[in-house]
Amino acid sequence: MKCNICPRECGADREKGRGYCGVGQNFTLARAAKHLWEEPPVSGTKGSGTVFFSGCNLGCVFCQNYEISHGCKGKEVTAERLREICDNLIGEGVHNINFVNPTHYSSALSYFLEKNSFSVPVVWNSGGYEKADTLKSLEGKVQIYLPDLKYVSDERSEKYSSAPDYFSYASRALIEMKRQCPESIFDEEGIMKRGIIVRHLILPKNTNQSLKILDWIKENLGTDTVISLMSQYTPYGKIAAFPELQRKITEREYFKVVGYAENLGFENIFTQSFLSADEDFIPDFDFTGI
Ligand code: SF4
Repeated sequence: MKCNICPRECGADREKGRGYCGVGQNFTLARAAKHLWEEPPVSGTKGSGTVFFSGCNLGCVFCQNYEISHGCKGKEVTAERLREICDNLIGEGVHNINFVNPTHYSSALSYFLEKNSFSVPVVWNSGGYEKADTLKSLEGKVQIYLPDLKYVSDERSEKYSSAPDYFSYASRALIEMKRQCPESIFDEEGIMKRGIIVRHLILPKNTNQSLKILDWIKENLGTDTVISLMSQYTPYGKIAAFPELQRKITEREYFKVVGYAENLGFENIFTQSFLSADEDFIPDFDFTGI
């Protein structure tokens, strides 16, 4: 059957081959482990149960997980094994099951979540380049959306992610996520049980994009939306042709964006330490937990 579940609509027959996203129909994973460096309501004190999917429908030149997103390093697993992997993480006491970069497995994961429910929330940790209609099939199965909103400009998204229609799709996807999870709900320890956190990675020489993104979130999702402004950009991946991407962001760039968000009235902003901008924070994709 032809796959058109994401905005690429590449029409690949994933039973026989691979799509633009680089993978076939079987779940392909690179790592499943407790992760302590997500936003505090997601990682909490016991960690988030991250499950990293290989391949990607976006393919950003600066991807910090290049090895698995572009290189598709990973092991194929059955749905039964995925269930065991999730159960093992829950057995370690994690606060949630966190599917990292799951978009190109949306249909299979929707079916998987229909057959498998968990005692902890399911987190959909995506790049935002997805179809709102595809996301509708996840309603009630995903409790926490953790999407990126990377660019507003079609020119930037084409240049860095070969996706000139990124904002057109991501904006509609985020509106759908917010429709499914209109309120952020936390337990007494501040751990998120339901809701949406919109992430934005600030790129060097790109703060005007960041400000426009914040304007859009305010107008379309509201200032009650939890946002996470990420300073962790580290030069990595295939960026040789992009001189502007070959440095970390400056404190001045970062605090310009944070200050703007505060002035817009966002009630819940997660910020990051500059110490996070280091290759040491990129996980080892050594098939741990697979
Ligand atoms: S998920 Fe992969 S195979 Fe399906 S349309 Fe998107 S890029 Fe193509």
